[in-house]
Amino acid sequence: MKAARFHAREDLRIEDVPEPELRPGTVKIAVAWCGICGTDLHEFLEGPIFTPPPGSPHVLSHEAAPVTLGHEFSGIVEELGKA
Ligand SMILES: [Zn+2]
Repeated sequence: MKAARFHAREDLRIEDVPEPELRPGTVKIAVAWCGICGTDLHEFLEGPIFTPPPGSPHVLSHEAAPVTLGHEFSGIVEELGKA
């Protein structure tokens, strides 16, 4: 699948990435619409602000740069993870 990946300041790439696997406590959503948030713009222009650097993954998402941006979306829940 295609994803907009933030690598570093002013370095956003559209890349092929594997479809994420469900983890306990997560859901799989088929995205219908996605917007661009001001947070994403600040991350692109001035970041990294919120994106953990490589080797220091976020405690909840377990992700570090490069990361897939986008948190302003709607869609349909397709699958539920355990718990
Ligand atoms: Zn937002």
